Amino acid sequence: MVNQVQASIQLSSKLPVSYTPDVVVVGGGASGIAAAMAAARNGADTLLIEQRGYLGGMGTAALVPAFCPYTDGEKPIIRGIGLELLEKMKLAAGEAFYSRNKDRLDWVAIDVETLKCVYDQEVLESGAKILFHTFADQVLLEGDRISGLVISNKSGRSVVQAKLYIDATGDADLAALAGVPFQTGGEHGEMQPGTMCYLVTGANQARFDQFLIDTGQNIALENTVIEAQRNGDLPQGRKRISGIAWITDTVAGFNFGHIFGIDGTKAEDLTRAAIEGRQLIQVQIQFLRKYVPGFEDIHLVHSGDQIGIRETRRIAGDYTLVVEDYMSMRSFEDDIARNAYFIDIHLANASSTMTIKYLPKGKSHGVPYRCMLPQGKSNLIVAGRSVSSDRPVQGSLRVMPNCFAMGQAAGTAAAMASRDGGGFREISVSGLQRRLIEQGAWLGERPGYAEHDQAAISGHIEFEEEC
Ligand SMILES: Cc1cc2nc3c(=O)[nH]c(=O)nc-3n(C[C@H](O)[C@H](O)[C@H](O)COP(=O)(O)OP(=O)(O)OC[C@H]3O[C@@H](n4cnc5c(N)ncnc54)[C@H](O)[C@@H]3O)c2cc1C
Repeated sequence: MVNQVQASIQLSSKLPVSYTPDVVVVGGGASGIAAAMAAARNGADTLLIEQRGYLGGMGTAALVPAFCPYTDGEKPIIRGIGLELLEKMKLAAGEAFYSRNKDRLDWVAIDVETLKCVYDQEVLESGAKILFHTFADQVLLEGDRISGLVISNKSGRSVVQAKLYIDATGDADLAALAGVPFQTGGEHGEMQPGTMCYLVTGANQARFDQFLIDTGQNIALENTVIEAQRNGDLPQGRKRISGIAWITDTVAGFNFGHIFGIDGTKAEDLTRAAIEGRQLIQVQIQFLRKYVPGFEDIHLVHSGDQIGIRETRRIAGDYTLVVEDYMSMRSFEDDIARNAYFIDIHLANASSTMTIKYLPKGKSHGVPYRCMLPQGKSNLIVAGRSVSSDRPVQGSLRVMPNCFAMGQAAGTAAAMASRDGGGFREISVSGLQRRLIEQGAWLGERPGYAEHDQAAISGHIEFEEEC
């Protein structure tokens, strides 16, 4: 079903204009961070607005415990700003963390407090300005252009007037406020569940690893969940404890369990999810202490500031990337990134199953620039998990390395459009691709050439993690 919010067009003449940057980025998650850095590095006066007091989005606010793979199983395909930030975090997190992760590009654990500081520093060093504790809640329209963005914070309400607008809210808030059509969830409105992630201390990694070795890896771990569910010590639902990310030998992050029926664009649902999520963590801590070797003495130190949200809106863009493109590993003339992450759609309720489809090792598909261009708006671009795709592709594109890559492309395009004095559709896409490659991004060996040589595989597979 296609949805559309009534666009706001009236300008409240009483509101003061607080900022007039070339480029404003709303949302300081993976896509917004990369977008702001890329726009600023390419010469645009850039403002990054974030509702919280730190950057990182789901990776910090929701304590998502690890970065999904940067590689296609053979080589890094997410490079550029995303890879830079990953390596900076590894270095900044100290010697022990570095030596644990120095050769890893896939499933690197997130050291959340270090990452927040790395993001602050790298965004500021790029030349972009940051405005925290600020929510964007209205857009002002003039024809097909956004002429202003109304923001709200402790200083009051005011208008940001930029030339170009980047929506990196994860929920396509700006696009929806501007009246861009969007879709949400599956055919019956079903959405992937949320997860309240958390950090524990007092764990014993050596003991846990030994348990996996002695009992046959993840099967035994899954069996502990099944047994606890049978005994009533865990609710029904997700069987797998995926995403245990070891930050040190004793501190681990968890992405475990689901809260169902949450729409991340509704405050009431987010409230219920926060409360139910924290209750579920208490149950899981008891389970881990009782059933899983290595976690007998754990102590909960922190849960997400909000429930982790996997999907909300997907905008209607100039092109909608669909599962057939994914499965045939299609390339496009206007590719701005490559994606190899598997299609990872979590169960919509406790009795359904997860959908998994994956590409062969060393293979990827292209992500076209047009997926980020919302229909009917000339100076707005959307980056991150809400770009124009069908639901299966969203289940793959949504992960943080991809969001960095899309963000870098959106920010670079914004700087080019600002310099040229036009909108996002007027820039030279080949010029954008050239600049992305010069600045470290990887767009495939032969951009624009379709790789139909090997079919993708679907079904149930053994994979290291799910997110
Ligand atoms: C439980 C869970 C586990 C996951 N596991 C992994 C994993 O292991 N590895 C991985 O790579 N990915 C994982 N993902 C996916 C990934 O974390 C997200 O899809 C990704 O962070 C999306 O990035 P984004 O920049 O599009 O949006 P977000 O990370 O959601 O960032 C959006 C930002 O915009 C801000 N914002 C939103 N609206 C406004 C507004 N109106 N005004 C001001 N600010 C606003 C938010 O505060 C937030 O900081 C997981 C997701 C979940 C929920």
